[in-house]
Amino acid sequence: MARQISRESGGIKYAGSCEPNGFFMPGMMFCLSCGSQVNLHVMENDVSLTCGGCGKRHRVFKDEEEQQQFLSREWTLLQKVCEGGARR
Ligand SMILES: [Zn+2]
Repeated sequence: MARQISRESGGIKYAGSCEPNGFFMPGMMFCLSCGSQVNLHVMENDVSLTCGGCGKRHRVFKDEEEQQQFLSREWTLLQKVCEGGARR
């Protein structure tokens, strides 16, 4: 059974799952203000993480590269929760 894990940071909840073999699967992002899913926006004038419910722009980036770097950092931090649990 995969273990569900999550981490809250900057008003966003990052959810993922930890497979029995220690493999990490990134899941979805949720808005801590309203509980709706946070979406990736990649448009010419809007590269951000925007809530699908309340419309809050949690994070605004200058370009897609910055967005990718930010997300990879956040998911890596969540992945560490997974690895920490496997050692117990
Ligand atoms: Zn929201």
